[in-house]
Amino acid sequence: MKVLKFGGTSVGSVESLQSLTKIVQQSFLNNDHPIVVTSAMSGITNLLTQMAENAADQKAFDHDIKLIETSHFDIVKSLISIQNQNPVFTKLKLMLNELEDVLQGIFALKELSLQSKDLVLSYGEKLSTFMVAKILEESISQAMFVDASHYIKTDSNFGNANLNEALTNQLIQSLVHSNPDKLLVVTGFISSNDKGRMTTLGRGGSDYTAAIFASNLNADVIEIWTDVNGMLTADPRIVKKAFSLPSLSYTEAMELSYFGAKVIYPPTMIPAFMKKIPIVIRNTFQPEFEGTKIQFESDQSKFPIKGISSISDVSIINVSGSGMIGKTGFSGRLFTLLAREQINVILITQSSSEHSITFAVHPNDAKKAIQLISSEFELELEATKLILPEIEENLSVLAIVGENMKKTPGISGKLFHALGRNGINVRAIAQGSSEFNISVIISKNDLAKALNSVHDAFFAELKKTLNVFTLGTGNIGTTMFRQLEDQHHFLLENNDLEIKVIGTSNSRKMIFNENGIDLKDWKNNLEENGEIADLTNFIERMKKNEFTKLCFHR
Ligand code: ADP
Ligand code: ASP
Ligand code: MG
Repeated sequence: MKVLKFGGTSVGSVESLQSLTKIVQQSFLNNDHPIVVTSAMSGITNLLTQMAENAADQKAFDHDIKLIETSHFDIVKSLISIQNQNPVFTKLKLMLNELEDVLQGIFALKELSLQSKDLVLSYGEKLSTFMVAKILEESISQAMFVDASHYIKTDSNFGNANLNEALTNQLIQSLVHSNPDKLLVVTGFISSNDKGRMTTLGRGGSDYTAAIFASNLNADVIEIWTDVNGMLTADPRIVKKAFSLPSLSYTEAMELSYFGAKVIYPPTMIPAFMKKIPIVIRNTFQPEFEGTKIQFESDQSKFPIKGISSISDVSIINVSGSGMIGKTGFSGRLFTLLAREQINVILITQSSSEHSITFAVHPNDAKKAIQLISSEFELELEATKLILPEIEENLSVLAIVGENMKKTPGISGKLFHALGRNGINVRAIAQGSSEFNISVIISKNDLAKALNSVHDAFFAELKKTLNVFTLGTGNIGTTMFRQLEDQHHFLLENNDLEIKVIGTSNSRKMIFNENGIDLKDWKNNLEENGEIADLTNFIERMKKNEFTKLCFHR
């Protein structure tokens, strides 16, 4: 048995849904007994959040309901045969009417509780999954829509609910046993509490839904179908040279995703790990690519680390004072307090003098954390044994991850050298006790540069890239472009060096292309597509700090 989970972009367009259909058909015909789990169409969960907030703020939401309707209806029109469309429109319309009623309730109350928000968000998954079930039914008559909130039971921690394992297991077993021949098409992300009120499993939680179904049914594999070629060495939106990893251990995947690699939701690894079910991350838009396999063992890769991830927005709080020295239980008291109030501490560092503890939290939690500390440690503060902590903002966490790290000396040296050489100041450092990860806190402004330079440092066997900016396209400039074009292949093959001209300008026009300007056609391109030349702007773009090896020619 297989659980196939398709994320937002995989259900977001006609093209991706055609690919999804082929993948599911193949698995069904293969007798894999697949169960399909789907997310809301991409962008819909964010839109629903905005609509719920708008309703509470007395702002209109009807236009957005229409937008959601159109995005689903357009797909139905393209992928469901005309004679079958009407009942699908009717059911979708019913759900949209319910959503409108809920939003009207929020509008009338002028307030949005976490409970109502979960109810609003649930429509994203219900609408898309119903639509996907009906699309699949066109070719697989056994396809059946399943609202997972009837089967995944949780506590009442709205927005990030915790699983009631025993009850969920019972319900999933009976669902599957009473529908042995069906192709179940299940909503991701949503669940319900003991009173039957809608809850959700946390943003990105559809991956977790897939793992819950898989572990309860002892599936052979969980396939997470998304829009990239598996787990990459870094976030491909920031590090252009990031490449796909063939395999990872559960721990490595957990650490990378915990520190921001959103391609998989961290809790997903827990049920999979407990039952030793492999997770394979694959690309709906390139289904022939094998993707990344997450399993028990970490394989021996030729690189000392597996990947780099980052959380772009954190705040840090530094608690210090003489009252902490030698006081056993101080940190216990501090972190129990934060945990009790549901404040997630992203990482902790303590100096060896025991004189201070620094910890990182999500910026939204920082003020509350200070208030809690102020009241819990009121006496210590009054006696000046503790200094009132302050919040430092606009920071990011960068983490390098890999099980082989502990066997390889010099890893932190390499990390700090790469950061230092690029002028990146490290505000705090934390090494997990597992030695599978080293995290540093840096300024948010430095994050893109830091990720790229650390990536270059650890994956140096890859080709190096020299990014070139040039001024002047007269004789010398033209000759240089010709030479670069002539030598491009040779340098790549023999020196592992790729030279890219990222920006060029003459006195009238300038053009930029972060993937490299086409050197065969630069002249036309500059004339036809160039912006008006502006030296200050040119220099600003050149300084835009994502390029680590940079060359300027004039
Ligand atoms: P889905 O909607 O399929 O669940 P997500 O948007 O949740 O997809 O996750 C996929 C995205 O995660 C990718 O498009 C990519 O931009 C981002 N991402 C961040 N870090 C990584 C990484 N290390 N490897 C792969 N993708 C990453
Ligand atoms: N739709 C939900 C979200 O955007 C769940 C998911 O995509 O996994 O967070
Ligand atoms: Mg996701």
